[in-house]
Amino acid sequence: MRLLRILALLLSSTIMLLAVNRLNDAKIVKGELRLTFANTIDKKQIRSFTLTKPYRKVFDIKNCRLAKRNVGQGLKCSTTRSLKIAQYRPDIVRIVVGCDKPYHCTPYKPILSKRLYHIPLPKKSSHLPAKRYNASAHSVKKASAKGQTKKRKAKKLLKPTYHSHKGELIVIDAGHGGHDTGAIAGGKREKDLVLQIAKRLEKALKKRGYPVYMTRRTDRFLKLPQRTHIADKKGAKVFVSIHANSVPKSKRNRVHGIETFFLQNTRDAKSKRIAARENAAVLKGAGSRLSKKVIVDSVLNGPKIIESNKLAIDVQKRMMTNLRAHYSGIKDGGVRHAPFWVLVGASRPSILVEVGYISHPKERKRLFSRRYQELLAKGIAEGIDNYLNNRRKELGF
Ligand SMILES: [Zn+2]
Repeated sequence: MRLLRILALLLSSTIMLLAVNRLNDAKIVKGELRLTFANTIDKKQIRSFTLTKPYRKVFDIKNCRLAKRNVGQGLKCSTTRSLKIAQYRPDIVRIVVGCDKPYHCTPYKPILSKRLYHIPLPKKSSHLPAKRYNASAHSVKKASAKGQTKKRKAKKLLKPTYHSHKGELIVIDAGHGGHDTGAIAGGKREKDLVLQIAKRLEKALKKRGYPVYMTRRTDRFLKLPQRTHIADKKGAKVFVSIHANSVPKSKRNRVHGIETFFLQNTRDAKSKRIAARENAAVLKGAGSRLSKKVIVDSVLNGPKIIESNKLAIDVQKRMMTNLRAHYSGIKDGGVRHAPFWVLVGASRPSILVEVGYISHPKERKRLFSRRYQELLAKGIAEGIDNYLNNRRKELGF
């Protein structure tokens, strides 16, 4: 019996030990406090509240220990008065963000990286009135209390930290180019079509006051890293890649429609096929240094999936509205996710628009008409504008 009791004790302490999560690392990346845990972290484990005089935002992570005593020590952030991480109780890690004024903050975890947790830190211009702050703090509390994990509500909690969109750069990437023609059907080439539409989009965005940078304005080939690095180097706020779709001859009269993609691994066979086709082109001559790990890493390190999803929804919706007002039989292929290499490393909301099927005779004819292209461009521009305006509204600017 005694042996049994010892065994039971051992077993329960092992289970206890296993159940305790560990905070392995804490660092500041792009205005966010990025926490890396040993195991999946659940929203239920996190409780947040505020203290005043002086103002502090506190996050308690239950059932968690610091992996090392010095985790999060010496973190410096210019917009906070103080930033402390400590083992508050044997099973609670406490994070205290001290700043001069209340600020809008909604902690979240990216969908795919279950061991990462992000806490947006105050930005200089993002100090909000206390009233607004309290409202959001309440919603966070309520959500974590219920421990709900529904995607819909999680989305609601994800609020980016944009301030003003005035003068924010949009990078437009016309797919393919040069020796890489993209899809070809009916004597027409994808690379020409997407450049035409990209240029119209540039015009439409400039009309709305956005600065625009084009990854290419001529018929030239760009390696994959060039496309995304341009967006990084230029500090773009939104990245839009324009492509056209295609299917083999046997299906060409049936398959048509407009789709908007954002980067994420997918099980959807159709999205996989489209991604494989587009990836094959961009990877040629550029893929040697890249590996599947790059995709995974960039997804894990880029908490912009939800933002990209929102952007994709706005863009898809506006394209549909514009085109349907003037054309019949426009097919809404919807918003989908797929592992597009061209979106890898995108640390900003990034989408890939498949403007239609170049293989479908009727759609191809429309795609190459000026009016249709202008409506598409107008739709994409309105979608981007809508997306950025909504972000601004969410933050009360
Ligand atoms: Zn393409």
